[in-house]
Amino acid sequence: MGEKFRVDVQSEKYKKKREQQKEFLDDSDFSEPFGYVDLDVIDSIREEEQGADPKKPNDEIKKILASSRELLLGYLRDIYTLAFAKYILEEAIADSRFIAKIGEDSKLKGLFALASDTHNLSKRNKKKETTNKGNKIQVRTLWEALEEGFISNELYELMLRIHKENFEKKLEKFNQKLPEYLSNIRGRVESKINEGVLPITLEHFDHIVSETTFSIRDGLEASFEETNGKYLIDLGKIYIAEFLETDEAIEDTLTHELMHALGGRTILGTHTSVAGYKIEDFNHQRSGLFFGDKKNQKSWQLQWLNEALTETLTDLVIGKSRKNYANEKKLLNLLQSRGGHKIDMQAFINAYFENYSMSHPDRVPAWKELIHQINESYTPGFLLALDTYIKENSLLRDRRGSGVKKAIELLETDWRQINS
Ligand SMILES: [Zn+2]
Repeated sequence: MGEKFRVDVQSEKYKKKREQQKEFLDDSDFSEPFGYVDLDVIDSIREEEQGADPKKPNDEIKKILASSRELLLGYLRDIYTLAFAKYILEEAIADSRFIAKIGEDSKLKGLFALASDTHNLSKRNKKKETTNKGNKIQVRTLWEALEEGFISNELYELMLRIHKENFEKKLEKFNQKLPEYLSNIRGRVESKINEGVLPITLEHFDHIVSETTFSIRDGLEASFEETNGKYLIDLGKIYIAEFLETDEAIEDTLTHELMHALGGRTILGTHTSVAGYKIEDFNHQRSGLFFGDKKNQKSWQLQWLNEALTETLTDLVIGKSRKNYANEKKLLNLLQSRGGHKIDMQAFINAYFENYSMSHPDRVPAWKELIHQINESYTPGFLLALDTYIKENSLLRDRRGSGVKKAIELLETDWRQINS
């Protein structure tokens, strides 16, 4: 109903509006690790009944711990949250206080001893065992004990406290090291700009870094992408998973998310009239090669291509090939090479970093050039037909991986089967 207009990324209007929007959205942001809120409530209940024995939790505390436990077990049974949930168990197993408590419980003590005996016995028969396998066995045993209800409230609460403490330590370390991470990434980006690979300026990189906030998050409280990181364009925030441990892994994921932040944008503004007041708003219609409204998955277009490019750029910047988005990258390489003529990677890269320009007669010349090349190499409308094919052949919740795999098969055999 409202009047629509384009907004230039470089304009003061965009920068100002973005600041306002970020402030507004920040209020609703939630970033505490799993169990944090529950522990807060438990602490205040105990404070009210001063001197209460933590070994005899009252009914309210029992209820809180029971529902937290159910939630964690649910996360452990779900393939998309399993790694983050298992991490909480791994942290407990690595903590001497937790191990000491297990030793005090005869039933658990027996269970853990049995598990490691069986493990040692089978180790004699198989030589492929790794050194951390013993720890894996213990994590597995803890998981089973949790499922069977053998973990007391006291022990479960200790698990949550260990997780909370570790998170706080990691956040502190991350904040301390962030300037170093960013400076390392800046150096690598600068050399790729100088080599002519990245069609951006160092000023743009600095601007994006200055308007972005960085933090770690618990994977159970955030939905990460395959890289264990996330860029939220409206908030101007980058999150990475708390369980990324080495500086290298952290910098690599930050690089991927920063590529998303550096990607070109198309912004659609709207004027609406509410009770006589004129309200101006804007939406990111495109970032990088991703089109659509982030909040509405049905509207998404070329998400696979955007990730393939983002990860390809990450590989170029960090100087090695990571395993993330391997199928998406493979499909991009096939798209480049299986048509009538080879499409240069630089054509994709130029389109990725291109901002919609009000002053350029073609608005998005690099995007138009890319589409022209794909149409020439295949058939008019091929890229969108490929994207539709991927969406139609994807299973719910699998991050479109199944559709991408099917598209790889078709490009390897006969791309003409993709209707356009
Ligand atoms: Zn990504």
